[in-house]
Amino acid sequence: MVQEYKLFIGGEFKDSSTGETFEDINPATLESLAAIQVAGTEDVDRAVEAAEAGFRLWSEIPAAKRAEVLFKAARILQERKEELAVLMTKEMGKVLPETRGDVQEAIDITNYAAGEGRRMLGETTTSELKEKFCMTVLRPIGVVGLITPWNFPIAIPSWKIMPALVAGNAIVFKPASDTPLLAFKLIEVLSEAGLPPGVINLVTGPGGTVGKAVVRHPRIKAISFTGSLDTGKWVMEECSKTMKRVSLELGGKNPVIVMDDADLELALEGVLWGAFGTTGQRCTATSRLILHEMIKDEFIKRLLAKVKSLRIGDGLLPETDIGPVINKAQLEKTERYVKIGKEEGATLLYGGNRTDPGLPGYFFEPTLFTDVRPDMRIAQEEIFGPVLGIFTVSDLEEAIELANSTKYGLSSAIYTRSVGNAFRAIEKIEAGITYVNAPTIGAEVHLPFGGVKGTGNGFREAGTEAIKEFSEVKAVYIDYSGRLQKAQIDSAE
Ligand code: NAP
Repeated sequence: MVQEYKLFIGGEFKDSSTGETFEDINPATLESLAAIQVAGTEDVDRAVEAAEAGFRLWSEIPAAKRAEVLFKAARILQERKEELAVLMTKEMGKVLPETRGDVQEAIDITNYAAGEGRRMLGETTTSELKEKFCMTVLRPIGVVGLITPWNFPIAIPSWKIMPALVAGNAIVFKPASDTPLLAFKLIEVLSEAGLPPGVINLVTGPGGTVGKAVVRHPRIKAISFTGSLDTGKWVMEECSKTMKRVSLELGGKNPVIVMDDADLELALEGVLWGAFGTTGQRCTATSRLILHEMIKDEFIKRLLAKVKSLRIGDGLLPETDIGPVINKAQLEKTERYVKIGKEEGATLLYGGNRTDPGLPGYFFEPTLFTDVRPDMRIAQEEIFGPVLGIFTVSDLEEAIELANSTKYGLSSAIYTRSVGNAFRAIEKIEAGITYVNAPTIGAEVHLPFGGVKGTGNGFREAGTEAIKEFSEVKAVYIDYSGRLQKAQIDSAE
């Protein structure tokens, strides 16, 4: 018998109205880790009501005091880092060094957001009129709905929750159904840190019902969503009906360009880590490798040798390089795209199959395709598995054109020793992030994170942008002249 987890509403664990549960499965062993209650629409209503009460209390507390709860939460996360990392590897499969990194990212953003509690900067500026003072202040939005994916089960929720909290909002949080346990752990940490009841509420269950109810709820003022492009489009459309603010962090098809002057060994390590870290299931994963024709043969030879040496298995074991994919649907999707790639005429150089490292879970070989053309589906669509497509180009211009040839624009990288090449890539690649001589993955929490084109709708997470995502900006005019002054009229005289 596994433990059953209830919803968290108004500071207490409460039974859902549906009486239904779903299983939380370890993708390496297929063991059941927990039974999770499925929220109904009326539970989402209860969560919103609790959040409204939480908001009235929390938004009155000065930001610097709110931040003290976050500093404490960061300390608790630090103390529990190993326990949370082990649980995360069991819940979603990525290897332990990566799950430790995930928890560390949550600690970092928590400390960073807490630091903002003593800043929350607005602007002061001049007035066109005499004896008039102008400034902007940040105000909380109200109750916000946060919907997150499973690939960073504690980091991504923390990227949203911590800035939303320090900015004074209350939260209804709907985590991915593949990683609910880590969401419960985060709630535990915040409660222990002293977050008042109602300020965060957790509703679990399918996106198709619970997520939809959160998005549609008329009293939720803003949605922050991270997930796939298709779901993101639906969320955006739906939010327009209730005039909700919506921030979207969606998919990627991230390119790495390796020029003929690159340090090939450095580039190899970066490509390997970028393409197969988290089993290729990162929004910033390297899925397209663009090689200069002069180094192509040598690079592919060395890459193949390295890929063959990757060890697949249980992420808890120190010798494992690549864990399982998240679930059966993702395994089948990866398999489907390998078939599509072959049918489209790309050359399957390595991998392409399910594999059995002695566990019943969802394991797939690291896979390399060469002779990929930009018009192929495997060059355009996000596979979100351990599949890397390789392209050849004859110069930087062609490389950048190819890099820009998808609907996504999240991360990108170039390996080169030329300052000119590096700066041209920074200038011309259509992406929210460009790395020079580093892989497409490795964001730090004090820089803005997000993408252009189909990857998002202009918002950024992390950095100071994160506070803006969860704040309303108010313009304030203070006239101390004691007389009626008319902007644009008096000032024009
Ligand atoms: P997904 O299917 O879109 O799901 C994301 C979240 O939305 C989950 O909590 C899901 O719930 C929920 N959901 C599904 N349908 C919904 C609906 N109609 N209304 C409201 N919520 C709904 O994405 P995923 O497969 O879990 O995650 C992988 C995707 O996320 C990839 O495309 C990846 O690139 C992207 N991602 C982007 C970033 C970024 O920052 N740009 C970061 C990480 C991942 P259930 O789990 O219950 O289905």
